[in-house]
Amino acid sequence: MDSQIHKIHQQLVNKDITCTALVQEKLDALKQNTNNTVNSLLDNLALDLAAKVDAKIANGETIGLLEGIPFGIKDVYMVQGTYTTASSDLLKNYKSAYTATAIQKLLDAGAIPLVKENCDSFGHGSSSENTIFGAVKNAINPDLVGGGSSGGSAVNVAKDYTIFSIGGDTGGSVRQPAGYNNVYGLKPTYGRISRFGLMAYASSTDCVGPIAKSIEDIRIVLNVMSGKDFKDQTTYASAEITQDSILTSDNIKTVGYFKNFIESDAIDANIKADFLAAIEKIKAQGITVKALDFFESETLVSTYYTLAMAETASNLSRLDGTNYGNRIEGDNLKDTYAVTRSENFSEETKRRIVGGNQVLSQGFSDEIYLKGLAIRDSIADNFETDFNEVDIIISPVTPNTPPKIGDSLKDPLAMYLSDAYTVGFSLGQLPTLTVPQGTATGLQITAAKNNDELVLKFANFLKDTI
Ligand code: GLN
Repeated sequence: MDSQIHKIHQQLVNKDITCTALVQEKLDALKQNTNNTVNSLLDNLALDLAAKVDAKIANGETIGLLEGIPFGIKDVYMVQGTYTTASSDLLKNYKSAYTATAIQKLLDAGAIPLVKENCDSFGHGSSSENTIFGAVKNAINPDLVGGGSSGGSAVNVAKDYTIFSIGGDTGGSVRQPAGYNNVYGLKPTYGRISRFGLMAYASSTDCVGPIAKSIEDIRIVLNVMSGKDFKDQTTYASAEITQDSILTSDNIKTVGYFKNFIESDAIDANIKADFLAAIEKIKAQGITVKALDFFESETLVSTYYTLAMAETASNLSRLDGTNYGNRIEGDNLKDTYAVTRSENFSEETKRRIVGGNQVLSQGFSDEIYLKGLAIRDSIADNFETDFNEVDIIISPVTPNTPPKIGDSLKDPLAMYLSDAYTVGFSLGQLPTLTVPQGTATGLQITAAKNNDELVLKFANFLKDTI
């Protein structure tokens, strides 16, 4: 088993390493890193917690599996007393007043937070260039983007600066950077993990998602964060996924893929060839593979962006300099709001606020917003029909390999279209995992709602198959 969590746990228990030395080593690596993954380091907190873990071990007390394991947090999660900037000028001096439920559960399990990680501002982007902290550089080739919006989190895991990181996925922001940096990244079923304390982008698709180097580590972290939370009424109670349950995949008999994703002109020739080769290997294991019909990428991307922009315009309306953020005084109150928002939001964020308000405005909302909601329902129906026929859907994560740093900023539309394969599963609120296999930017494994366990099972099967 390639779980780093189990390995470090054993090293701590056997006293082969101290938690303080481990945490210090990771903090040093983060401090020196040239990939721009760090918005702020939680060094004092991390070292205090590490000393407590070492004291427990020295006293002969037992420690939990996650106790002393260093992790990273995308800079959109509240952690009381720490800067939570969303990589924005508006919140660059903002400190969280409370801690997000998902993060609190990890802290309660003894995991050690090292860093608030660089990302696209408010989750707006697919490259982690929309940030005041400098573009995140890809872990494999620093001339390329780290992916987004959870770019800093994926790069930190890929570079071993963190053992796991917690990203946020609204339309692909965990899965796509995981694919760009060759690590695992899970978007669980919507509602499996509480969003309380995750800065809202598009509330109807926002998901908390772990990034790690093994399926087992994803499983461990997912279990700890899952569960009903009265502070997020969309959450539901879910059963723990056991270590043994994901080792067998006998109940997976049929796998589907979307024909139009693969036949599209926009897909890179190598990604297409590699995907088709992966399909052949799956068939060779006796699994039936079905080509399925699906909505055109343009429809998926426009529906997602219509709804995501509408929701973010609404969610970000609270950021006017009154309760939060860098207030810039204008001539009067209205002017103060305008100047604060104009000066402190990025171009990309303003594009989305303007777009979202247009979509929601009187005279346009029926034509655009309500139509978006109707298409979203049809997408959900489509998935329901598909999952009567197949157990799993697999797809490439992205149509292309990561762009060079600078290119996405010049062409926002091309950036939106690069989300073609991730956004549909977000609209369907389905569990989807990126595995670093199959194509240059990985493969996505999707199952029906609440079947996160099946996704992890199939990932284990793929690990030995392709
Ligand atoms: N790239 C997509 C967007 O910009 C998804 C971002 C996300 O999942 N936060 O909306």
